[in-house]
Amino acid sequence: MDIVEQIRAADIKLDRYTTGNHKTLCPQCSHTRRNKRDPCLSVTIEQNGAVWNCHNCQWTGGAREQTDRPIVRRDRVIKRPTIQPESLRITSDVVAWFAVRGISLATLERMKIKTANVWMPGPNCEVGVIAYPYYRGGEVVNVKYRTEDKQFRQEKDAEKILYGMDAVPADAKSLIWVEGENDLLAFHEAGIFNVVSVPDGAPKQARDDVPNPEDDRKYEYVWNCNDWLKRFGAGIDRGNQPSHWPRYLHVGRLARGERCAVQGRQ
Ligand SMILES: [Zn+2]
Repeated sequence: MDIVEQIRAADIKLDRYTTGNHKTLCPQCSHTRRNKRDPCLSVTIEQNGAVWNCHNCQWTGGAREQTDRPIVRRDRVIKRPTIQPESLRITSDVVAWFAVRGISLATLERMKIKTANVWMPGPNCEVGVIAYPYYRGGEVVNVKYRTEDKQFRQEKDAEKILYGMDAVPADAKSLIWVEGENDLLAFHEAGIFNVVSVPDGAPKQARDDVPNPEDDRKYEYVWNCNDWLKRFGAGIDRGNQPSHWPRYLHVGRLARGERCAVQGRQ
């Protein structure tokens, strides 16, 4: 389905399905309201997708162009996480752990950071961890788990994407790239939301060649978010636009701190 079909499938009716901001009736709540004609649903349509948000019932959703779907590689199948962050809670010791690092509960709640008990490869047993859900278009695509002694893992076979995408304002003109989730949270504390974090920390070295997206495991999150990145005029095209490549191939350098203004305490 294209974006317009997806908007219609959500029962949202617009006079014109053009890019830009629209106001219309909310299919979730307008029929139940005293003022049935109040256009409480805001719909923003862009080149690669759309988002909507009801000011009355808080219903939100979005549509994405098909090409934003993950690249399915021959050798594996992408799975969605089995854990749903909404069903988890955050314990007071984790809130306190973040408070020491200057990260407020409001930021943790915005990013739906939770406490979980999951199997970790180091101790080879279930342990209490911090869970950082990776959202794209309102959907949990991956989850990063972190133990107190700084061991990490992500959901098995989940798609790798950038962290923080859904918190980036739709009208952001630029993106700041950081190396870890906590660095991103520090930016949020400073009121800066056009930030994403790479999912695997900083690459050891920048690549100089141009890999095929199907073979590119190290930067697959860039490919998987490519349509979204193009919104900021910063997407990459297969092979034939080398001028765009260095920005991404040097993500490692950026993320290692050469332009990272705020560092979260790890
Ligand atoms: Zn509504």
